[in-house]
Amino acid sequence: MTNEDVLHWLERTADVMRENRAYLTDLDSAIGDADHGINMDRGFSAVRDKFPSMASMDISTQLRTVGTTLVSTVGGASGPLYGTAYLRAAGATSAKQELAPADVVVMLEAFLGGIVARGKAQTGEKTMVDALTPAVAAAKGALDQGATLAQITGQATAAAEEGMKATIPMLATKGRASYLGERSIGHQDPGATSSWLILRSLAEICAGQ
Ligand code: ADP
Ligand code: MG
Repeated sequence: MTNEDVLHWLERTADVMRENRAYLTDLDSAIGDADHGINMDRGFSAVRDKFPSMASMDISTQLRTVGTTLVSTVGGASGPLYGTAYLRAAGATSAKQELAPADVVVMLEAFLGGIVARGKAQTGEKTMVDALTPAVAAAKGALDQGATLAQITGQATAAAEEGMKATIPMLATKGRASYLGERSIGHQDPGATSSWLILRSLAEICAGQ
């Protein structure tokens, strides 16, 4: 993966967040404050404004730019959470001109590590972590089997989708949804859904290479 591919991933993510703005906000209206789609679209629109200058950046600097932009433009919990995720991903890719499949897996691990470090959630608490944890495990498993980057990211996306759906019966114990207690049960977590979309965007770019 080159810095051009990473930029394509980010462009795809920005488009997908715009397309799914209403969907993510609807999910958040059931168990939150109906702003997750607005937050993600606001954040990635601010990232979109920086695309012209990002073309000449190396991968790590591109990812750091996303992280700082999300932290400074997204007011909700997801801003600092995803901001930290992209900053950790930047740290994991520093000095790399290109990412080999193993480097992409390390980047995804760091991305998840950032969310966990910031949010202190474990799996089963109905958050982004429930989509990203199985995704990283699937990516590692695929890498160990010698899979291509397209296969690794495709399997990670499939695992994230399953993890996202598995949040439906969960009781939320972190974030705003936890205020609802038992009433949080029966709804898909918005953050797990945006995490799946971020991975799906990556898989689409990797499949097209
Ligand atoms: P807010 O909750 O401030 O309105 P958003 O609506 O943008 O922020 O994001 C909500 C999402 O953030 C939730 O669906 C959940 O996935 C995620 N989230 C909230 N708290 C945590 C946490 N402590 N750890 C991981 N993810 C969290
Ligand atoms: Mg919200």
